[in-house]
Amino acid sequence: MQTTHTNKLCTPQSDVPDGYIHLSGDLERDSIVNGPGLRAVIWTQGCRQHCPGCQNPETWAEDADLGAMVKIEKVKEELAKLKGQSGITFCGGEPLLQAKACLEIAKFCKEELGWNVWSFTGLIFEQLPREGAVWDFVCELDALIDGPFIMQQRDLTMKFRGSRNQRILHLNHGEIVSIE
Ligand code: SF4
Repeated sequence: MQTTHTNKLCTPQSDVPDGYIHLSGDLERDSIVNGPGLRAVIWTQGCRQHCPGCQNPETWAEDADLGAMVKIEKVKEELAKLKGQSGITFCGGEPLLQAKACLEIAKFCKEELGWNVWSFTGLIFEQLPREGAVWDFVCELDALIDGPFIMQQRDLTMKFRGSRNQRILHLNHGEIVSIE
């Protein structure tokens, strides 16, 4: 069920201009820890979950002078130069705060580069709004790793995740196909 609380956690960042994405770090390549195969990784800036024990608290603030505002077209250019990647993963921060920008990049990666697309979110899949850019982005995903990091459920043996509550949801147009 969609909740007011959830809405607040994924209401778009107000200070990101159209055509830009607010990044917390450089575009990464050849990652093997954020999904299957060698992957490009996009690190978004801004997260409102504030999970105790989060590994990236520097990505929480949404201030425009933190990280970098990068033109989406520039990100696409950089992605197109990468060789040997099988997919892209959106990490954060909370990618859903910038769902519109992530959607544009995700579509580019799928349609132009033939990559699979994964994303993390600190939100719970069943509580996501079934409309707007957030849902359009989710419908582009091959997999969503959902849920906040919970220190009491920390498990360093889990594939691609930090705590046992987090699920790898394999998706097809927003429908759950399987769960790891
Ligand atoms: S959702 Fe992720 S980035 Fe946000 S506070 Fe929790 S662990 Fe950190």
